[in-house]
Amino acid sequence: MQEDTSAQQLEALIQFLYQAPIGLVQTTLEGDILMINPLSAQLLMPLAHQGRLTNLFEVLATVAPQLRALAAGAHDPGAVICDSLRLNAPCAQGGAAPSILALKLVRLDDVSLIGTISDATALVQREQQQMAAQLHIAAHLDSLTRMPNALALAQRIDVELGRMQDDAAARFVLLLVNADRFDRINITLGRTMGDAALQSMASRLQSMNWAPAWAREGEGGFIARLDADEFAVLLPLPAQQAEATELALACVEGLRKPYLIAGMAIDLSVSVGSVIPSFAARSAEVVLQEAVVALRQAKRAGGARHCAFVPALLDEAVRRGSLETELRTALAQDQLFVVYQPIVDLDDGARVTAMEALVRWRHPVRGMVSPVEFIGIAEETGLIGVLGEWVLNEACDQLVAWQHSLGPAAPVTMSVNLSRAQIVEPGVVEMVASAIARSGLSASSLQLEVTETMAAQDVAIQARLRALKSLGVVIALDDFGTGYSSLASLHGLPIDVLKIDRSFVSQSTTSAHHRVLIAAVCRIARSLGMQTVAEGIETRSESELMAQLDCDKAQGFWYSRPLPSAEASAWLVSHAHAGAIGPA
Ligand code: C2E
Ligand code: MG
Ligand code: MG
Repeated sequence: MQEDTSAQQLEALIQFLYQAPIGLVQTTLEGDILMINPLSAQLLMPLAHQGRLTNLFEVLATVAPQLRALAAGAHDPGAVICDSLRLNAPCAQGGAAPSILALKLVRLDDVSLIGTISDATALVQREQQQMAAQLHIAAHLDSLTRMPNALALAQRIDVELGRMQDDAAARFVLLLVNADRFDRINITLGRTMGDAALQSMASRLQSMNWAPAWAREGEGGFIARLDADEFAVLLPLPAQQAEATELALACVEGLRKPYLIAGMAIDLSVSVGSVIPSFAARSAEVVLQEAVVALRQAKRAGGARHCAFVPALLDEAVRRGSLETELRTALAQDQLFVVYQPIVDLDDGARVTAMEALVRWRHPVRGMVSPVEFIGIAEETGLIGVLGEWVLNEACDQLVAWQHSLGPAAPVTMSVNLSRAQIVEPGVVEMVASAIARSGLSASSLQLEVTETMAAQDVAIQARLRALKSLGVVIALDDFGTGYSSLASLHGLPIDVLKIDRSFVSQSTTSAHHRVLIAAVCRIARSLGMQTVAEGIETRSESELMAQLDCDKAQGFWYSRPLPSAEASAWLVSHAHAGAIGPA
């Protein structure tokens, strides 16, 4: 009676398992099928040759040929032959996509194996979807700031451009935000501090109010990090240029306040290029290029400012692009040459004391190209190193030649301009030292001019200037009055000569304010042991006024325009006698 009950229970259990929503199969040790439930049969059938489900190993031979060997190696009851082995099987309904079977096979006893078979297609698809989602996020996220990256921005721009095609009222603003001279943070403070500064910049950008009063409900900025120190803000707003400018300026101001990083206050500024894409803009690439062109313009104008894109900037960019290519050949083809402009002593009857070397480019097609235009290009393209070294060597050789040929009529000093990109180059001190050694010039006869804007607040540049000064050369601060440095801050700078910018000098005859200022600059400079040079003297009255205001030296068209080497030699000879300097 009890045996009957057990048999019934066993039968019920077998029936249950047989009908269970999982494939079951029992085989001999050689794989001959002893029992197979309907679900297993259904799942395996597409793999079975001519529909014959007699031996499991044969059925699975094409997708899991290793099974027979694995089974032969599993000796003990309970030994796992394979655990959730995934098999690609043709789709049961004959569809295109294969279904994925999961097989678990264990040794049951001395004579048989038992296995479960299930359809894992949905599970695998889910896993794949999750993986794809994670990859998608990783591909669209900047790892340092966890902000959307360049790819994400490009896609968003394309979406917005698409909206513009469908809706005439849909417009957007793109701001490209780039830290000014960020390289100096990495160079002077190291990468870790650099990264921390960028993270602070990112969070400051995120915390700014990108939903101005005229924004529609729910509209805010989409902020991305594109590159090392470059961010972008996309505002899906139908803005006018004035409104875009307002936001861009708020961004320049907001990101300019000092950053406190690891207990240190770091000064950073950003430049912003903005664009309101036109309906003609077809791709993210075009929009980004326009923003880049505007950003470059903001940088070129000195940084810490905003520039809006206008189509004329593109023509300018094209011109710069071709000048860049041509500048590379200009050096090799002797299209560059150096001109020299006298610097005279005001309290010694206008005796020539120095010459400033100024580079010129005689372009075979365009004619003379101004250094104001091509020095910037040379800086951006890294050509300034070779170009600057060439000018320096030419100028040193020229002074040595004049010393030999003109004796006392030769200028005492040769002044050469150094641009910012040159000063930050690692080998600049060695380069100057070797130019001096090669030419045989005495170091004190060489004056290096750096612009005020670069020396003002930049600790790294000041350190370079000290290193240069320790060579024995004279350091002059060029274009004084155009930058931010106060007279008080000059105290800490390794400067010997102050060149007062032409913009001050030219107003001195008409503006009492400028006269007072120039007199004060000359007095303070003298008290700091510095000499002063007034730049851009064009008239006799300016020349006389500068002498009255106690300026030491002067330079300008009134004395002479910059002259090519041979003409400069002739000029020096004819002005060898003091007191006769004026228009030649
Ligand atoms: P800078 O160093 O301030 O040079 C003085 C500029 O003022 C020169 O322009 C000169 O021709 C011009 N100038 C001189 N006297 C007068 C005057 O009386 N009236 C007017 N209106 N202008 C006068 P230039 O040669 O076009 O050079 C412009 C700037 O380009 C220079 O300004 C300097 O910053 C840069 N530069 C020129 N040559 C070099 C170079 O070899 N290397 C580097 N790094 N920069 C250079
Ligand atoms: Mg100069
Ligand atoms: Mg100057």
